[in-house]
Amino acid sequence: MARIDLQHIRHAYMSNPAGEADYALKEVHHTFEDGGAYALLGPSGCGKTTLLNIISGLLHPSEGRLLFDGNDVTELSTQERNIAQVFQFPVIYDTMTVRENLAFPLRNRGVPEDEVGRKVSEILAMIDLEARADRKARGLTADQKQKISLGRGLVRSDVNAILFDEPLTVIDPHMKWVLRSQLKLLHKQFGYTMVYVTHDQTEALTFAERVVVMYEGEIVQIGTPDELFDRPDHTFVGYFIGSPGMNVVPVTVEGDRARFGQQDIRLPAAPAGGGGALELGIRPEFVSVGTEGMPARIVKVEDIGRQKIVRAELEGHAVAAIVGEDAELPAEPRLSFRTDAISLYADSRRRPYAGEAGGGLS
Ligand code: ADP
Ligand code: MG
Repeated sequence: MARIDLQHIRHAYMSNPAGEADYALKEVHHTFEDGGAYALLGPSGCGKTTLLNIISGLLHPSEGRLLFDGNDVTELSTQERNIAQVFQFPVIYDTMTVRENLAFPLRNRGVPEDEVGRKVSEILAMIDLEARADRKARGLTADQKQKISLGRGLVRSDVNAILFDEPLTVIDPHMKWVLRSQLKLLHKQFGYTMVYVTHDQTEALTFAERVVVMYEGEIVQIGTPDELFDRPDHTFVGYFIGSPGMNVVPVTVEGDRARFGQQDIRLPAAPAGGGGALELGIRPEFVSVGTEGMPARIVKVEDIGRQKIVRAELEGHAVAAIVGEDAELPAEPRLSFRTDAISLYADSRRRPYAGEAGGGLS
């Protein structure tokens, strides 16, 4: 397995890109550590597949270099890079049996037959296709075929990295959970470098040690699930991670106070680089509803089991709060924000507080 360095990678699908907007992938400069389990998370069209295909070599980047363990592989083919990639839809040989499909990547590399047999049995058990091992792939269902595809990606243990591009889309929900747990286990056992693309936050947060959040062709934050929750570096991360997402409202900041309409909100500290017109972000988990604080109007209450989502209007803006299922909602409700859970944003990027280590990618 290898460490992967992406050095100033940019990609445009058109031949003469004029400006930023023409790049499907804006500047990506980052390292995937050897043996790390990463999820690339972001909405459809944000550049996840583009980035993955650049790592595997299916796509040559318009600019930048790619290194595996310090060696430049930018000009190498996918085969030469020694990467396994699993796609969203099955890539298998219909005329081969399930077993032959799984054995193929190994035989192709001259792996001895006894090891092929052992490895193939292991994978057959994992993808739960032992009973169909000697059937031709042609007759199988779409999700069985996808499991073969996944198995083919996992069968070799000598690859530099395993890349997954939304591999469980066509798999039923229960099996999805099973396979995801298996992948996690494999990662723990063998220390594969894994990059897993998904648009589903639950999938990303349960699979990965570190989640790479992409938005409009950029990596906007890389962090553990906790870091993404506690300190979103970009308002998009705030919206996209969490349910409901972070509340973001316009404020005017002076020193360690934020003016929001008629309200005066205390901040943990003054922002670095001065105040002015900024955005204030607070997650619904840190908004409380009671008799103290800022007068609000409750628009709707949604029951989500052990908690309730209170949808309120505060100074003309929608603000959500999460409260316990037994919480009493007063007739004249007031909201308050937990001071140390407030983040400030300028132009969607987190503005650190004075004295706090700067933002940026960690
Ligand atoms: P994702 O995998 O996150 O859904 P993609 O990497 O597939 O995103 O696409 C990123 C952007 O590049 C999108 O705007 C998409 O329309 C564009 N794009 C993807 N593939 C091509 C292609 N072969 N030719 C031109 N544009 C493309
Ligand atoms: Mg994609």
